[in-house]
Amino acid sequence: MSISQNLLQKYADLIVRTGANVQPGQIVQLTIAVEQHEFAAMVMEACYKAGAKKVNVDWTSDVQSRLNYLYAEQEVLSRVLPWEEEKMKQMVEDLPCRIFIESEDPDAMKEIDPQKLSDVTQSRAKVMKPYRNAIEGKHQWVIAAYSSEKWAEKCFPGDEDAMDKLWEAILKTVRVREDNDPVAAWKEHTDFIEKKAAWLNEQGFASLRYQSANGTDFRVDLIPGAKWEGAGATNPLNDAFYIPNMPTEEIFTSPMAGRCEGTLVAVKPLSWNSQLIEDFSITFEDGRAVSCRASKGQELLERMLKMDEGASMLGEVALVPKESPVNQCGFLFYETLFDENACCHCAVGMGFKEVLPNGDDLSMEDAQKQGINDSIIHVDFMVGAEDLSIDGIRPDGTEVPIFRNGTWA
Ligand code: ZN
Repeated sequence: MSISQNLLQKYADLIVRTGANVQPGQIVQLTIAVEQHEFAAMVMEACYKAGAKKVNVDWTSDVQSRLNYLYAEQEVLSRVLPWEEEKMKQMVEDLPCRIFIESEDPDAMKEIDPQKLSDVTQSRAKVMKPYRNAIEGKHQWVIAAYSSEKWAEKCFPGDEDAMDKLWEAILKTVRVREDNDPVAAWKEHTDFIEKKAAWLNEQGFASLRYQSANGTDFRVDLIPGAKWEGAGATNPLNDAFYIPNMPTEEIFTSPMAGRCEGTLVAVKPLSWNSQLIEDFSITFEDGRAVSCRASKGQELLERMLKMDEGASMLGEVALVPKESPVNQCGFLFYETLFDENACCHCAVGMGFKEVLPNGDDLSMEDAQKQGINDSIIHVDFMVGAEDLSIDGIRPDGTEVPIFRNGTWA
């Protein structure tokens, strides 16, 4: 692998300083694959240099997950053990800064029965959800990626330079170069996103209308007063500004759950529970997905939309211009962190209560009453066609072009 130590160090520092923005005295929870132990050490050290009080590491392993799913009973895998719950309780108390480094093999779960996978995920998520809700909006976190052999092979099959190509793409999208100051590059990038978000917030659109020649013809109502957000968020407990996703190109909000109509046609395959859904569309009536079509993964898509009550409703709409560096890479990453930053997307499932005024302080039940969708899933799918147009509709009915031909109008 030809990536230099200097670039890796810059990347680790960027994740810790700009992404998570670790503050002196904070506990850090780092989640990373065992294969990436060298990079884990770099990230840990960067955290301590930023003043972290303690860095705890959750080591993950594709091999371990795959073998457990292959051989252990569903009932055993579904059970959340008392120590696991205690760990979540501790997290609610400590509110650590969380850093997730993704490097998974997109095919790790390929041979696992998708029903088993989604049932286990569902049972575990039900137990864990109250704890997740309790820390939501009260801690800093960041998800970033690290290239791995299997992931690279998936993106560039049979290519002996696969690892280098994936690294090149990752570093391009997170704006890390030998000759630049990534922290300054991110400042410029987040300023641009915030300017666009501020414009959308001034407009106060009541609805959005999507149209594209591929069959997308869709209208969704927004929640009055809900904010468009992008790039970063601020931890209300210490005012630390952090960037939850690296890369990030999107400006998003949560639309009014149960208030949309029409068809959204996906422009990229969707990888869900390690399985692919291809050439698909979802049709909504009265705010709920009533039918879907996929050339591959039809059953999987149907199951996804029925995971629970909220899985058939939208939790997010996001704007990403087609010039996004992720889109410029020109290949599918098989990883939402990247693929959702390629172009405009929507998500079925859980919405973001923090887009509501004082949303961080609301319980999920109260947020739901104001129109935020609730679900155990949140799955993004890409609708940003080359010719996509999006219009904003004001409460008085006037229309304003937001996107034309897949980019800012
Ligand atoms: Zn998104």
